[in-house]
Amino acid sequence: MKKEIKPLEPDLMDKLMALCKHRGFIIPGSEIYGGLANSWDFGPYGALLKQNIRRAWLKHFVTSRDDVVLMDSSIIMNSRVWEASGHLQNFTDPLVDCKKCKKRFRADHLLEARSLEPGYDKEKPVDWLEIKCPECAGDLTEVRQFNLMFKTSVGPVAESGAVVYLRPENAAGMFTDFKSIQQSMRQRLPFGIAQIGKVFRNEVTPGNWIFRTREFELMELEYFIHPRGWEKVFDMWLGEIKSWLKSLGVRDEHLYFHEIEGADRAHYSKRTVDIEYNYPFGLKELYGLAYRTDFDLSQHAKTSGADLTYTDPVTNETFVPHVVEPSMGLERTVLVTMLEAYHEEEAPTAEEGATDRRVVLKFPKHLAPIQVAVLPLSKKEELMGPSQSLAQELRQHLVVEYDETQSIGRRYRRQDEIGTPYCVTIDFDTIQDKAVTVRDRDSMKQERVKITEVVGYLIKKYS
Ligand SMILES: [Zn+2]
Repeated sequence: MKKEIKPLEPDLMDKLMALCKHRGFIIPGSEIYGGLANSWDFGPYGALLKQNIRRAWLKHFVTSRDDVVLMDSSIIMNSRVWEASGHLQNFTDPLVDCKKCKKRFRADHLLEARSLEPGYDKEKPVDWLEIKCPECAGDLTEVRQFNLMFKTSVGPVAESGAVVYLRPENAAGMFTDFKSIQQSMRQRLPFGIAQIGKVFRNEVTPGNWIFRTREFELMELEYFIHPRGWEKVFDMWLGEIKSWLKSLGVRDEHLYFHEIEGADRAHYSKRTVDIEYNYPFGLKELYGLAYRTDFDLSQHAKTSGADLTYTDPVTNETFVPHVVEPSMGLERTVLVTMLEAYHEEEAPTAEEGATDRRVVLKFPKHLAPIQVAVLPLSKKEELMGPSQSLAQELRQHLVVEYDETQSIGRRYRRQDEIGTPYCVTIDFDTIQDKAVTVRDRDSMKQERVKITEVVGYLIKKYS
């Protein structure tokens, strides 16, 4: 029984995309050249947001624990890695072309659209023959398997160089370097290796903005264990993912924890949970958690000839470690964090009794791209001087934006739109009472704080 998943407003995506372009969070890639299909650039606020999410993930999954270490492996690896992992043979999507209009589709997506049983995502689907082109109703070609890895070559001459691939996931680096890291860090099982980095997939049909793109970042963790008691470890990581999502402000009613049934799981996995989110375009995957048994290390040991076993120092038992793998996309994390943060509400204006609509991104404070905005009430020198020096002092500790243009009301709205938790206003009273106004983004309450104390006051809000 599926629980009730609360749908998001269908036009939320359009509103958010418009805001992100307008305010420089996320902009179309290569736009002055007419763009490149589904490539997106993160502008100043988007890049800061992404950085804050990376940092929070690192703290949540790595540095706040004593059993996980971080690594950063190469994007281009020896091609035999992908032979061992199965990506060369199996990392494919079923592809069909329309014979009439020549458009290209993913066969499983067409089946999904027809609400037929899609089967496992990467498996050859059935019953596709009765499907016609959704654009022109023309006949479709046979299903062909299309490998999603980007191919390139090492060396100056393409023809004679060795064929290599841009990594489609980070996990491989954690497996190939498992023994080296385990030994150099003197780690005992259970322990994990984590990595955040770019991966590349030549998707047939990317789409839904930053939901599915051809390059993206994965935040992945391989947790190496003895197979005995894997169920407990799995539940522990499921709990960690839940508390992580909570820390991003993701509401439980938008989430669905999808237990993947035996037939739909990868053959080596004993349990897989897809963490799905109810995007404005439907309930789709956000994260994954899988118990992968000893498949990965065994495959790499077999293909490379290296010994990837581990000997327990207490029991002296030698075995190939099993892994539980939480895998999280950074751009999808940005997307859900923004969808959850987006609010429109009626707010009072400077005029007595009047209200207007404000758009506010209610990010959890620690994720907000700008932490404090410093706003002099007017461009008079006696206000700008102390405002600029306060901003400079605050910059030693926090991420600060200084803005002196337009009315104070407009400037508050601009900071609301980018999710700045605190605005500090220096006004004409400041000269007399040596105090400033601190405005809270969510409550819009204003508090008078002594100028000598305001730096400490704001630092405390973020500690
Ligand atoms: Zn067609």
